[in-house]
Amino acid sequence: MSRARCWRGAGGAFLGLLLCGVGILVAALLLRTFTLPSNRVIWQGPAVAEVVFTSEERQLLKRALVGAVRIPTVSVSEEEQNYTALAEFGEYIRKVFPRVFSSSIIKHEVVAEFSHLFTVQGADQSLKPYMILAHLDVVPAPPEGWDVPPFSGEERDGYIYGRGTLDDKSCVIGVLQALELMLKRGYKPKRSFYIGLGHDEEVSGHNGAMKIVERLQSRGVKLLFVLDEGLAVLDGVIQGVKRPVALIGTTEKGSITLNLTVNQPPGHSSMPPEETSIGILSAAVSRLERNPLPNMFGVGPEASMFEQLAGEVRIMITLWYLKRVSLMSLLEKNTLAWRWALGHKNVVLFLL
Ligand SMILES: [Zn+2]
Repeated sequence: MSRARCWRGAGGAFLGLLLCGVGILVAALLLRTFTLPSNRVIWQGPAVAEVVFTSEERQLLKRALVGAVRIPTVSVSEEEQNYTALAEFGEYIRKVFPRVFSSSIIKHEVVAEFSHLFTVQGADQSLKPYMILAHLDVVPAPPEGWDVPPFSGEERDGYIYGRGTLDDKSCVIGVLQALELMLKRGYKPKRSFYIGLGHDEEVSGHNGAMKIVERLQSRGVKLLFVLDEGLAVLDGVIQGVKRPVALIGTTEKGSITLNLTVNQPPGHSSMPPEETSIGILSAAVSRLERNPLPNMFGVGPEASMFEQLAGEVRIMITLWYLKRVSLMSLLEKNTLAWRWALGHKNVVLFLL
């Protein structure tokens, strides 16, 4: 056998094996696609108690949210917040939720002037308390581009429009209104819990949430869990899923800001040093870029989400089967943004 024919034979065998492998993969994907039942029920826990609201209570809830949206608690920066509106918001919740503020089982504290901490005393002190969080402030909303004025709380076609309806006054009002109505029904919780309402979440939370944390830490409070603002019910955002999807956020991507400084003796451009401060700093930035956090996609709670959605959209099964979807791995990547203060001693790097 000539050498050329031998190579051709080996190439053919390799191609055959490759085609065979691809065929098996496609068959497995199709099998999985068409055998996975839709509407799989993953959660098998106890049923949620049915809550019945009277139409009058529903109106109260709606009015409470509309009133909250109308108070422009805008945070522009850590230094620039609408303190008048934040103070007004404090007065507003006192007026709208009288039972919450007068109940003998609830202690209310104002923290850092505008944030609020509620301690709801449970009957069993041996149980670890939990905490519910929300925030009062909103990001700026210039009226351009809005169908309705952003701080009008206008109702249209069954929806209330305005800055904060989703993020996060709906949570603030929902939590307080639920507590108000439950107190009306003689609610006495077994387990204690806290409600923390921060006033500067949109611009860091350094004054609100951090001060609430400090206060709880100084009392030695240990929490069972924290429930913060979650994700919305999204309609048409997940491609291929025809029904609204209620996404449950179990974690939040963090961020870090690093200041990298290089100090070099000043010199003249006619006699440049072997290594300039910009060069040294560039190398540091490059090292940061080359060391992203590990991609953990597919091994966390998102696995359940994909399994659940797989029954709704067949392509999802394919993605799930492959587990590590390259597109989704973008979510894991660090985004680096930097600002160079050229010509100054300090070079500032922002890592978003
Ligand atoms: Zn928010």
